[in-house]
Amino acid sequence: MSDDLIALAGNPNSGKTSLFNAITGARQHVANYPGVTVERKEGYYAYNGYNLHIVDLPGTYSLTAYSPEELVAREVLTTERPRVVINIVDASNLDRNLYLTLQLFELGIPVIIALNMMDVAEGRGMEIDAAELSRKLNVPVVPTVARVGRGKEELLAVAARIAKEGAGSSAPPQIPYGPDIDPVLAEMEAKISSAGLFTDLYPARWTALKYLEADEEIVVKGRAAAPELSAELEKMVEKVAEHLRKTLDSYPEGIIADYRYGFISGLLKSGVLKQKHEADRLYLSDRIDRVLTHRLAGPAIMALIIYGLYYFAFTGSDAPVRWLQGGFAALGRLIESSLGPGLLRSLLVRGIIDGVGGILAFIPIIIFIFLGIAFLEDSGYLARAAFMLDRVFRTFGLHGNSFMAYIVGGGIAGGCGVPGVMATRTLRSSNERLATMLTIGYMNCGAKLPVYALLIGAFFAKDKAQMMMLLTLISWSMAFLVARVLRSTVLRGPNTPFLLELPPYRLPTVRGLVIHTWERAWLYVRKAGTVLLAVSILFWALMNFPRLPASKKAAFDAQRRALTTELAGGANPTSASATPAQNNRIKSPPAQQAGNPAGSLEKINAAEAREALRYSVAGRLGIALEHITRYCGFDWRTNVALVGGVAGKEIVVSVLSTAYSMGRTGHQKDTPLGAVLAADPAWNPLVAFTMILFTMLYVPCVVSVVCLAKEAGSWRWALFSVVFNTTVAFTVAVLVYQVGRLLGIGI
Ligand code: GDP
Repeated sequence: MSDDLIALAGNPNSGKTSLFNAITGARQHVANYPGVTVERKEGYYAYNGYNLHIVDLPGTYSLTAYSPEELVAREVLTTERPRVVINIVDASNLDRNLYLTLQLFELGIPVIIALNMMDVAEGRGMEIDAAELSRKLNVPVVPTVARVGRGKEELLAVAARIAKEGAGSSAPPQIPYGPDIDPVLAEMEAKISSAGLFTDLYPARWTALKYLEADEEIVVKGRAAAPELSAELEKMVEKVAEHLRKTLDSYPEGIIADYRYGFISGLLKSGVLKQKHEADRLYLSDRIDRVLTHRLAGPAIMALIIYGLYYFAFTGSDAPVRWLQGGFAALGRLIESSLGPGLLRSLLVRGIIDGVGGILAFIPIIIFIFLGIAFLEDSGYLARAAFMLDRVFRTFGLHGNSFMAYIVGGGIAGGCGVPGVMATRTLRSSNERLATMLTIGYMNCGAKLPVYALLIGAFFAKDKAQMMMLLTLISWSMAFLVARVLRSTVLRGPNTPFLLELPPYRLPTVRGLVIHTWERAWLYVRKAGTVLLAVSILFWALMNFPRLPASKKAAFDAQRRALTTELAGGANPTSASATPAQNNRIKSPPAQQAGNPAGSLEKINAAEAREALRYSVAGRLGIALEHITRYCGFDWRTNVALVGGVAGKEIVVSVLSTAYSMGRTGHQKDTPLGAVLAADPAWNPLVAFTMILFTMLYVPCVVSVVCLAKEAGSWRWALFSVVFNTTVAFTVAVLVYQVGRLLGIGI
């Protein structure tokens, strides 16, 4: 017969004493904990030949270090390590009582919930689904009425079983603490566990949380045990605290509490608690939720909100985008007029200004969308959207927590796959996590936006917001479809239950919105100034070398000479020996005007530029790829752009800008790329749409593939993603293009 310690924990007045007496009867004794006037009650109970040693912890609402009761409770739990904690919960007051439950989960000791006061709850017209609560929390839940001893036997049976066997596979959920806390928490947890700080006593995540909550006892102990690590952790906490103060006017402990209550609120609303009678008072958040998360109205409102966001972003950014495009064109002209022709000028104008400027011009759209997302996130609406989509996610083998990862990755256009992949850390099941990571690439990240903006602006200008809405729907449908396929094949396995957090609604602060928007926009600008700049230069070089061989160049020179001779004695001042670049500077009417010498000269120059591009490394690659890509309507220049897009999808725009500017003649050079594409015979709405779909679906950018490999812990999945996504993209592109052509749509 073994002697196993079982602890009773619960809020004051939850019925702990009643339950303890009902179990132990007279076999109990009371003493004080050393040094404090807190009673320690212990008792014994023999169950099925199994001797249970039960300790009744002082009643507490929390496990912080604010009162002697809390400190004692936590001391017993961590140093005496009970085999099981029976958590007595007042069923008539679930939202408040479960707060302690979540903290018990974080201590890593197996928990059983005694759902006490069931009679009171029923009397108040509450219908509590204990089985559902158990399923959602993944711990045993036993309904009890402690005053009359109802449920006692079953509770003890479960406690004895777990004390004997351990909690087995049942693991309570990990509570997510939102985009600000979670990454820091994960980092701190990793540091604590690799240094082994208190890991014999508490789980590393718990210690990290205590640092974030500025728990005096733990921080003081930490400083003594590991001064350096402790200083490092405190610095991390300080940084996130400062950030939260600035953006949300809150502090880590407050946010952590909000998320815990949000978690509970979501849990209770997802079928655990039904109120038969109307509650006396509905809180404001609840009242808003009645409308925004309504079964039918909710999704319709969500669609409207997202549509509104796109509309607002596209109309609001229309003028600033044009100003920026004009500004970059003027800058290009300035450099052209002040620098002599040659490689340097070509690099600056064609490579850098056309390349990076082509991307930066779309910054206003990105800022508007980021602003909208920051508003939805800060106000608490995104959590509601996850709540509504929960069922859908589960149908496709994903998890409710996948939602936030999708949103971060660009679920509403304008995120980034890298933090998106990292956001999947909140998923516990590795199959669900992988399925999410592998489909995040389908979301419309900020890098795809310039490509969409360019092509939508050029070919679907009348229906910008509708097009974005359609693309969002296609993204999500593809992600769901592919996730379902993966989860039924290579990633088969059971679904884990989803817990929803519904933090209270807040009115976002202007400062918070500005900071959140600025942080994201700045990341984007920085990327343009570094990676994109480097890749633009690389692609400019690939498009310029090797140069045309002397013989071909001579042929064009001869054509130019012939033209000038023909004009000999004519009024045109153009020099025959001028290089194409020099000639480009000459203001001239459109080339189509037959017989116009400058126009003809430009035609020759443009033909030479095109020939040179075809002759370059990039051109040859693009031409070689035409054998395959012609089935989806892409010509060699699009191919080069798409190859460049592997480095970052914005590069597609940058390479197209450079490629088309190299073949453009003087009067066209100030025309925005969109207008050039719209006028090009190789392009039409069908090609543009196919190109958008291909950009959306093909291999995620290099950085996110690397991140995926790291997070998945294997290059196999990264490689899988590269091959699989490109195959899917190609298949979809060919289908859309061929069917579109067959039906004569958009050609
Ligand atoms: P403690 O503060 O957690 O130890 O709670 P107690 O055991 O002292 O219970 C507080 C009050 O609730 C007492 O008046 C109990 O009789 C009553 N109580 C305890 N459990 C139940 C129950 O399941 N149903 C009802 N109706 N009352 C209960």
